[in-house]
Amino acid sequence: MNLEQVKKLEDKVLLATYERYPVLLRKGRGVYVYDHKGRKYLDFLSGIGVNALGYAHPALTKVIARQAKLLVHTSNLFYTDYQGKLAAALVKISGMDRVFFTNSGTEAWEGALKLARAYAKEHKQEGQEPKWRILALEHAFHGRTFGSMATTHKEKYRQPFEPVVPGVEFVKFNDLADLEKKFDSTVCAIGFEFVQGEGGVRPVSKEFAAKARELATKHNALLIADEIQSGIGRTGKWFAYQHYGIQPDLVTVAKPIAGGLPLGALLASEKVAGCIHPGMHGTTFGGGPLACAVALELLKTMDQQKLLKHIQKTGSYLAEKLNDLKKEHSSIREVRAMGLMAGVELESADLAKKVFKKMLDHGVIVNRTDETVIRMLPPFIVKKQHVDQVVKLLGQILSKNTVEFAATAQRRHK
Ligand SMILES: *Cc1c(COP(=O)(O)O)cnc(C)c1O
Repeated sequence: MNLEQVKKLEDKVLLATYERYPVLLRKGRGVYVYDHKGRKYLDFLSGIGVNALGYAHPALTKVIARQAKLLVHTSNLFYTDYQGKLAAALVKISGMDRVFFTNSGTEAWEGALKLARAYAKEHKQEGQEPKWRILALEHAFHGRTFGSMATTHKEKYRQPFEPVVPGVEFVKFNDLADLEKKFDSTVCAIGFEFVQGEGGVRPVSKEFAAKARELATKHNALLIADEIQSGIGRTGKWFAYQHYGIQPDLVTVAKPIAGGLPLGALLASEKVAGCIHPGMHGTTFGGGPLACAVALELLKTMDQQKLLKHIQKTGSYLAEKLNDLKKEHSSIREVRAMGLMAGVELESADLAKKVFKKMLDHGVIVNRTDETVIRMLPPFIVKKQHVDQVVKLLGQILSKNTVEFAATAQRRHK
């Protein structure tokens, strides 16, 4: 089927949840993905931060093939070879103690919210109601299921489905006074992304994170770090909270962890893990042997190829090049980058739309988030030459030189 045929079929039989880009992707290799006409795209989004080792990485395809022939799924009623090993690897890099595997980010975040409520019940004071309020941040994104949606700030994601899970309140981003005002002894948890992704690649301030940790400890509430987008090395450390010298009580992980297979994880400290008992929580698919074997291989590959160092180096280079570009173009409001997670805030949503589309026309995939921000989440294996290509193209698009530019677009599509 060609693009038109696929589109026509989908328009008829799928729920209309997505306005897809008019591109039909067929295969990928390394940092490139190819459409049905064989056109090549440099992928600076990696499936929204998922394809950490790019496409068809030989180490991962080998494990996928091997494990597919052995055992794909068993349920969590049995022991398998990889959950324990993968959990041990995650414990080691995170400073957390115990792990629960899920299928997606939102499922991990739901688990975190449930644990926060369970912890509050176990630790309630004599003669008092257990505390149940949860604080989240403005511009936060935590997923699409009910609890995640309730803690996600954007009105349009929540409003059609109200009433959402009760007890959630939003704190103004990086606003210490608002945090202190809302964080009292009725709060059981505060949860946030140390670097907001959907919200426009915005890091929380050191002061805000430190105050959240201090207040959570003071009130015996939990600090939950959503590392679904920023975790597993994306920001140049294994987890974004490690840039802050803060240890959360719960951590959620998903997107890049299995290099493209659906897998998530909830990491808990021992004190929180103590409130979960057999039968309280579970999942059918989560932590299957195929996904876990691949995730273990991904962590091994990152270690062997010293990818954290590479992410730091390439990330600094990307930030430097984008900041240079900002000096030349007043239409760039701000550049925010941490490792290989970068946001270029432009002067208007219209410009961001145009830039995104032109980049796609010229064979570079990025994404527009929070209206005005061009977001880049390239695979961890990206090289300086790819950064150069993307930044150069962005510069050309922002320049007034659109005539010559249109000509190169035509040449490319020949
Ligand atoms: C993508 C994302 C989620 C939701 O993950 P899904 O796998 O889509 O459910 C939650 N939190 C953050 C920070 C994310 O980036």
